[in-house]
Amino acid sequence: MPLIESLFLQGLAIAIGACIGSFLNVVIYRVPAGLSILHPPSRCPHCLRPLAPRDNIPVIGWFLIKGKCRYCRTPVSWRYPAIEAFTAFLFWCVVAYFGTSLSILVLCFYAAFLSWLLALAMIDIDTQTLPNSLTQSGLVLGLIYQVSLATTGANGASNVASISKLLLFGIIGAIVGIWLLDIMRIAGRFFLQKEAMGGGDPKLAAMIGMWLGWQNVLLAIMIASAIGTVVGAIAIAAKNLDKQQQIPFGPFLALGAAISLFYGNNIITNYLAWFGIG
Ligand SMILES: [Zn+2]
Repeated sequence: MPLIESLFLQGLAIAIGACIGSFLNVVIYRVPAGLSILHPPSRCPHCLRPLAPRDNIPVIGWFLIKGKCRYCRTPVSWRYPAIEAFTAFLFWCVVAYFGTSLSILVLCFYAAFLSWLLALAMIDIDTQTLPNSLTQSGLVLGLIYQVSLATTGANGASNVASISKLLLFGIIGAIVGIWLLDIMRIAGRFFLQKEAMGGGDPKLAAMIGMWLGWQNVLLAIMIASAIGTVVGAIAIAAKNLDKQQQIPFGPFLALGAAISLFYGNNIITNYLAWFGIG
């Protein structure tokens, strides 16, 4: 891809990412509360006055109002612009990393997958739940992604065999994800004598498996367990957390999935080569 075209695409990814991030803020706050994500339009949670159009500009809007509601001066959390900026960063990563090797359609799917993961991770941090509406819609979107891969294959192959092959790839991934997390959940209950994992975690793993396939969902769960164990140990050591308190596992799964999306195939290839079976 020519440099100018690549730069244009990266700029576009940042702009679209910031806008999607703004929408993710709405999803993160409203979905767990059971509110509509479309109505009413964004408003101050304190005085309920709708935001002016200029306040809705991602990231910049927050700085224009200096982090306070224009009307009632109630502070607006820095998390809003942070999520917008982080989503823009994720979208930029997708284009910068995969831009030359994948079609625009696949880049859009990857951006959507990362958006789902970010929303689920933040909701899990806030409420210790992973809403079914999001894990299920993410699973269905993963299914659509697999079908679209089969129908827009580089070789133009659009046949029943390639569609069913990719569908099977996703479905086996989903089954491996949900099955492994269920085992971990039962093992955790047995060894720790308490609920170590939320009921939404296996569903999130199924969603990740549908998108990434069985090898990469395994890798994502391993990465999540490793990072989760380290963070949990640090939190307990720092006495920020007593042992009965829950650490949500969803954010680690989401992080593992994001790492696997970008680096999974490289990690797996190198890992197998290490043992001389790659
Ligand atoms: Zn207000």
